[in-house]
Amino acid sequence: MQVAKTVKCKIHSLTNIKEQILSHEYNNYQKLCQEVSACVDNNYLSDRPYSLFKTANRYSATVWGAIQSIKNKRQFDRIGEQPLYLRNDVFAVVENQTKISKHWLKLPTKRKHGGIWLPVIVPRKYEELLNLKICDSKITKKKKGWFLLLTVKKEVVIMKSYSNILAIDLGEKVMATVCGSFNNQRPQFLGRKVRGIRRHYAWLRKRLGKKKIPKVIKRLEHTEKHKVNDQLYKIARQINNLAEETNSLIVLGDLKGIRKSTKGKRFNRIVSNMPYLKLTQMITYMANWDGRQIIKVSEKGRTSHTCSKCGSKGTRPYQGMFKCPSCGYQVNADFNGAKRIAQIGLETIPSLDGVSLIAPLTLQEASHAC
Ligand SMILES: [Zn+2]
Repeated sequence: MQVAKTVKCKIHSLTNIKEQILSHEYNNYQKLCQEVSACVDNNYLSDRPYSLFKTANRYSATVWGAIQSIKNKRQFDRIGEQPLYLRNDVFAVVENQTKISKHWLKLPTKRKHGGIWLPVIVPRKYEELLNLKICDSKITKKKKGWFLLLTVKKEVVIMKSYSNILAIDLGEKVMATVCGSFNNQRPQFLGRKVRGIRRHYAWLRKRLGKKKIPKVIKRLEHTEKHKVNDQLYKIARQINNLAEETNSLIVLGDLKGIRKSTKGKRFNRIVSNMPYLKLTQMITYMANWDGRQIIKVSEKGRTSHTCSKCGSKGTRPYQGMFKCPSCGYQVNADFNGAKRIAQIGLETIPSLDGVSLIAPLTLQEASHAC
């Protein structure tokens, strides 16, 4: 399986001349994107697109990049600013320690023969990624300056054999309730802050909405997204670290089925607004990068109301509490959900191609273990 990673590297200490050349290249690219976009709109981006846009000022790789940038955006009327596309065969990032920088980006430009060398900061923990296969990358222009979004790819072999199961229940109050089948692992509740952040910003927006300050609202949305993503990243990282330490197969509850079935408008709004998809993607991506598999199990009608001890149908006397009338088991509802996901995961494993637990637990054991 091939997995890709994109690393944000700051382009720094630009001399005036380099800054000018880079800006010129970037602005030219924006014009080119507008031209390509117009052709897409008029439906004549057909057999020989390259010659259509090729001028003495452009590399064919740049034209190719612009077409890639625009191709997937047909549905939009206006094309906004596009990051400068760098095809993998035309640029390079090399290590060459000087007073100015440790790493350098070689960028081909039409203004200067042979291109220019731009100092970039590759974050130390990502330096070894430079040994991997470099893929098509991008340069973006932000308020804080220029950034290289460097994409690398590697081949990973997904492990098939695991010692434990790590179940994740995605919930409303806490983003992720985590429970493992190892060492009487107590449940962990991750991402309590996310809901608070979202509520706070929803409230701020509502207040400002009356005064109609779209600029401020846009900035708030940006900050909110940043804060939430930061939390999601931490949750995903923690889950993956735990999976690595315990050699666990991650089992994720898939929320797809549950959305329509739950009642209550307010609840539906919160559930559909919570960034579950994004979190799921982050967890999956990190696990795959480390060669670990993820399985998703459907939660529909199987977790939230089923007792993890005896399998009977239970009740929720109030939000956050699960109670089983048959065996009297009373527990945090999210924890019960996570245990159910672990159990469904165990049931599912035999049907998966080649995946196995080194010391398979029985359902009974798993239930006691977590
Ligand atoms: Zn029970």
